[in-house]
Amino acid sequence: MADGTPAPGAMKGNAAPAKKAATGAYTPAGVSPNRRNRRSYTIRLWAVRHSRLLEWFYARFASAFLLLHPLWNAIGYARVEGPVTFVERNVKGLLFDCRMCGQCVLSSTGMSCPMNCPKQLRNGPCGGVRANGNCEVEPDMPCVWVQAWNGSQNMVHGDAILKVQKPVNQSLRETSSWLRVTAQAAEARAERVKEPQA
Ligand code: SF4
Repeated sequence: MADGTPAPGAMKGNAAPAKKAATGAYTPAGVSPNRRNRRSYTIRLWAVRHSRLLEWFYARFASAFLLLHPLWNAIGYARVEGPVTFVERNVKGLLFDCRMCGQCVLSSTGMSCPMNCPKQLRNGPCGGVRANGNCEVEPDMPCVWVQAWNGSQNMVHGDAILKVQKPVNQSLRETSSWLRVTAQAAEARAERVKEPQA
């Protein structure tokens, strides 16, 4: 057209983003289908800001759980797995947006759950962190690893963030980390008691 306005139907090779999204074609940053509830970020970020308090609380909570080991043993770890997993999922889901990987590393990651990373990286951020500290895949979401570093700086054992984490064992998904850690601690304690007799 003489005034430079494209004629109707002239955008054939360059469809509008909404139309492209509807076809399932590449959609630009800012319209991620994985965008999460902002409320989750708010509570998640609170947990990171209060990582030292949560570290202190978790140490006591883990000790109390270990004290209850004889009870878990008497009932049977397999039997309590269901109810404990239910409570763990809801409590940690609210506080950390937990994805129930079953091998919790929150105490090594500044109380920022690495399973919220869209790439599920367990050992630090990718190279795509935005200048504002947000995720490259989910632009509205603060990068979980930037938060992990911030949270770890407040913690007594914040250096644990430097530990290399193993790849996620998918067979442990939807199981209780609390019970696993307790059973392992009880086993280690029993081994220590045996050692002097050997
Ligand atoms: S590391 Fe695993 S268990 Fe811990 S909060 Fe994240 S998803 Fe949940």
